[in-house]
Amino acid sequence: MRKIALEEHFSAPGFEKYLDAVVPMFDPAALATIEKLLPEFDDQRIDMMDRCEIDIAILSQTAPGVQGEADSNNAVKTASASNDFLAERISRHSERYRGFACVALQAPTEAAAELERCVNELKFVGVLVNGQTGGEYLDDAKFDVFWERVSALQVPLYLHPGIPYDQSRVFTGRPELKGAIWEWTCDTATHALRLVFGGVFDRFPNVKVILGHMGETLPFSLWRLDSRIAISSFGKAMKKPPSQYIRDHILVTTSGVCANGPLLCSVSELGEDSVMFSTDYPYENAEIAARFIEDAPLNTEQKEKICFRTAESLFKL
Ligand code: MN
Repeated sequence: MRKIALEEHFSAPGFEKYLDAVVPMFDPAALATIEKLLPEFDDQRIDMMDRCEIDIAILSQTAPGVQGEADSNNAVKTASASNDFLAERISRHSERYRGFACVALQAPTEAAAELERCVNELKFVGVLVNGQTGGEYLDDAKFDVFWERVSALQVPLYLHPGIPYDQSRVFTGRPELKGAIWEWTCDTATHALRLVFGGVFDRFPNVKVILGHMGETLPFSLWRLDSRIAISSFGKAMKKPPSQYIRDHILVTTSGVCANGPLLCSVSELGEDSVMFSTDYPYENAEIAARFIEDAPLNTEQKEKICFRTAESLFKL
């Protein structure tokens, strides 16, 4: 079955230094392969897509990307250079690739302008943000100027894990928990819940956010979020239960989770129109991801929605 994949990463020149933060988390041999594939757009990536029947990959700068830049002026310049680089690479395979904008949220007004340039001039189809920026999360009112532009341009925002700002004591002395194994899931799910509880979807009712990794555990937790907020002293201003905000505004991808239980949970809790195929290339094996969705215990109509129909309509492809 043909597919569109949307958590597919690359690295632009100059971004290698931001990867230093994740290097200690990887087995060196695995990291060497990943680092070879990230800047490659021609042979191996296209071969992989052909083998997996991925017609279109929507590419994004790998984490932490520009979120890892401490200097705001540098971040603005670096984001813009990454977007120009990606646009040039896409133009060499314009049938196969689309792009997510990389924006410097260190400067929210400039990030809004860069997103507009990316969508209107470079024809990118959305924006991907790698977690927190300088310890700030996207529910902060300072980012409303950016959300206004996301909303006006009608493009989705992919909230991808990044490097957490700080670490809860529960991680102390247990490096196994760091990174993609567990730490990033907690951080990204919590960031997404900040959007729900922080009123972002009330202020910007047509905004759509995408979470990878089968929703970073949120589909599993909807009933409990509703049940516990109902007896909490907080959250009284919410117009809808948390589950409803999540169903109305959040879509998830299958990236990095090739198991039927979480897939069926996501389809059941969010609906079959809110789950989209992705691979998390080159961090994950794309062929395992493709085989997983082909073999999933869903009917053809459901698989078509997950593999390409929902992405086609969301990104106007
Ligand atoms: Mn990823």
